[in-house]
Amino acid sequence: MNAAEIRELFPILGQRVHNYPLVYLDSAASAQKPIQVIEAVRQYYECDNANVHRGVHTLGIRATEAYEESRVAVAHFIGASSEREIVFTRGATTALNLVASSYAQTVCGEGDEIVLSEMEHHSNLIPWQQVAKATGAVLKYIPLQSDGTFSIEDVEKTVTNRTKVVTVSHVSNVLGIANPVKQMADIAHKKGAVLVVDGAQSAPHLKVDVRELDCDFYVISGHKMCAPTGIGVLYGRKALLEQMEPIEFGGEMMDHVGLQKATWKEAPWKFEGGTPIIAGAIGLRMAIRFLEQIGLDEIAEHDRQLTRYAEEQMREIDQLTIYGPSDGRVGLITFNLDQVHAHDVATVLDTYGVAIRSGHHCCQLLMRHLDVGSTARASFYLYNTEADVDQLLFALKKTKEYFKE
Ligand code: PMP
Repeated sequence: MNAAEIRELFPILGQRVHNYPLVYLDSAASAQKPIQVIEAVRQYYECDNANVHRGVHTLGIRATEAYEESRVAVAHFIGASSEREIVFTRGATTALNLVASSYAQTVCGEGDEIVLSEMEHHSNLIPWQQVAKATGAVLKYIPLQSDGTFSIEDVEKTVTNRTKVVTVSHVSNVLGIANPVKQMADIAHKKGAVLVVDGAQSAPHLKVDVRELDCDFYVISGHKMCAPTGIGVLYGRKALLEQMEPIEFGGEMMDHVGLQKATWKEAPWKFEGGTPIIAGAIGLRMAIRFLEQIGLDEIAEHDRQLTRYAEEQMREIDQLTIYGPSDGRVGLITFNLDQVHAHDVATVLDTYGVAIRSGHHCCQLLMRHLDVGSTARASFYLYNTEADVDQLLFALKKTKEYFKE
């Protein structure tokens, strides 16, 4: 794949920031959108806009078909057995909350266990704290090693017969490493627990096959994989989705409505109360088509190579600390420069047109474990080139000089 050519398909990347060509290295927070996705959303609003599942008129039929075709595309993209295992949500956070509120709140009781690690993003942490509060279940943490990762032996020791849910990020948004999801699924299943996978950082970069991973739930964040904001996905095994109750009630999700009670549609539609995110789903379908045309394996290899190229040079900068193991980094590098606060690093980099993320990255527990208040993070995606990394390195050296004075 040719990243320089791909870059041309992203109109936003053509601009200059503070008189430098924009170098966008914050895709782990939100990825940019190619012209195809922007056009698909525009085309929907210009030609097909109508509500879905209701109108019998032409526009209503077109909108419904496009929305449901997106569900099929997502199912194919992650290797689900059926589109009926795909629930559209507002994002990864909403999808995780749906599993926590609907599935976990029902199956967990006093003394049951939810197993997770301090590596988790707040979106895959706080919903489980809420389940624990509501049900009397306890949160059990897989111990982290000094570099922030955990061992499969420690997962084995932490999961017990009382464990109902094991949850993990497929790829950490701070360390950039991939966790051993498949092995964790085996461990969870042996003890009768389900495995929930936060795929917000993996789906954009890796070929995902939920059946191969053998996970029970998998969540996706559309905006991190070139789709619009406001669209995400919950994949759930059919049998599990069928047994779960909706958590939002109203139009669209119901079947028969009486004076005192109502019944609802089957999964996944029972989870999509109200007018759904139609334009978002259409944008997501186009984003998937775009990524598949380039090839997920090619994207993964490009991201890996670029990350390695960046890391090798960053390691040569004096007093620059990189967090997490070097092996298997998927598209991001989290670091600190000397004693300079990460926000200051990001602010000076911006004056050279380089956009990176700084702060706790919604991972306060991991920051505490690594004994830092905040870190800087450069993340790479299919439109980034070696020239972008060179500009990052140039700007980092300038930042270092700036704070020396
Ligand atoms: N999990 C991880 C690992 C993430 O990086 C993010 C986004 N920062 C989320 C969950 C939340 O995703 P969303 O913005 O789609 O709610």
